[in-house]
Amino acid sequence: MSTIRRLQTDVAIVGGGIVGSSAALALRRMGLDVVLLERDLCGSRSSGVNFGGVRRQGRPLSQLPLAQRAHAIWGRLPELLGTDGEYIRSGHFKIARSESDMASLERYRALSSDFDLGLELISAARLREQCPWLGTRAVGGSLCVEDGQANPRLVSPAFALAAQRAGAQIFERHHVDEVAHDGAVFMVRSGNELEVQAPVLLNCAGAWAGTIASQFGEAPPLRSRSPVMAVTEPVPHFMTWSLGVEGGGIYCRQVARGNLVLGGGTGITLDADRARVDRDAIATLAMQAVELLPALRHAHFIRTWGGTEGYLPDRQPVLGPSRTTRGLFHGFGFSGAGFQIGPAAGEVLAELARDGRSSTPIEAFAIERFEPAPAPVSASVPAAHPH
Ligand SMILES: Cc1cc2nc3c(=O)[nH]c(=O)nc-3n(C[C@H](O)[C@H](O)[C@H](O)COP(=O)(O)OP(=O)(O)OC[C@H]3O[C@@H](n4cnc5c(N)ncnc54)[C@H](O)[C@@H]3O)c2cc1C
Repeated sequence: MSTIRRLQTDVAIVGGGIVGSSAALALRRMGLDVVLLERDLCGSRSSGVNFGGVRRQGRPLSQLPLAQRAHAIWGRLPELLGTDGEYIRSGHFKIARSESDMASLERYRALSSDFDLGLELISAARLREQCPWLGTRAVGGSLCVEDGQANPRLVSPAFALAAQRAGAQIFERHHVDEVAHDGAVFMVRSGNELEVQAPVLLNCAGAWAGTIASQFGEAPPLRSRSPVMAVTEPVPHFMTWSLGVEGGGIYCRQVARGNLVLGGGTGITLDADRARVDRDAIATLAMQAVELLPALRHAHFIRTWGGTEGYLPDRQPVLGPSRTTRGLFHGFGFSGAGFQIGPAAGEVLAELARDGRSSTPIEAFAIERFEPAPAPVSASVPAAHPH
């Protein structure tokens, strides 16, 4: 008969995506003990299968402080993780397909001017000259030279590995099925194998975070959706920028090997764990791709895929303290855009665990925006401190 293994730690984390893993790394760098439980492999969900866009341009202004913090972390990947994860500051170009789209890019540049994104508006004439490979519908656009792209299959697991090297205890293939709180300490159970006790719990369970939140009487309106992705066979290299379109739709980037990675549309969510691409969405993506980049006319898709991502109605994450339980902090619902800000969200969660507050503004991401705050369930859980 197996006996359950019991561990005590400063901070327990549920979920080893880029958010949970970077929180684990930041906590170890602060000197706190941390145990992370991941039911699959770290970085195997949204964080490892996403498009790989590392962009600040186009984010709501309320996300820009977090995005700027993340930008600095991305610049230090080799030092932090021991790999660059194929991260390059290739530039992110947002295409305008009408004068009104161009006007909205101009407005965004003015509104975001405090954040030093270095946005540069490019006219139709200059675009024709500089990017002869672009289809005819572009009337101009906005370039963020220092935004870029990375390989999510490398970057996200690397955060977990770096955290482990720094001393975090990471348990993969450990599904958290029960979380209890006795007023002072969380008990996080994975079957009959492991129980982790900690005064602080970080809920970084991605699209599944609502299950953890509901155990503490919280019901954020989190919904799963699956963005559709495709990659072509390698074609001669012609594009360094990562491309997006104002108003949404297709986005694409070309990797060093020549393949074009494309995204757009939504697939089918089969159940809580499985998502599939939708045939119609792939057909639409293929047509949009050829319209945007005529060089792709004869290119084949060699793979299509999706991934399960948690969305909130206002497309902003929940990042901050629980409204019911002291010591519980949430970081989920990144709504299709958490890869770039994930490492900063992890640092913020580590600060919340240690100090109870964040040095980056996160008010816009409070869970209270969905439900008014009741009286706390427990009032005496201290923030974690290093042993
Ligand atoms: C196809 C696609 C394309 C995207 N493109 C981009 C992009 O280009 N740029 C960008 O910025 N963002 C993009 N995103 C969004 C980005 O990938 C996510 O917002 C980000 O990865 C979320 O990270 P996370 O750690 O919160 O979630 P996840 O990576 O989903 O990690 C959560 C983890 O929690 C684990 N877990 C859940 N429940 C439990 C449990 N009970 N016990 C133990 N473990 C549990 C899961 O197995 C999972 O590994 C995209 C997302 C998708 C799906």
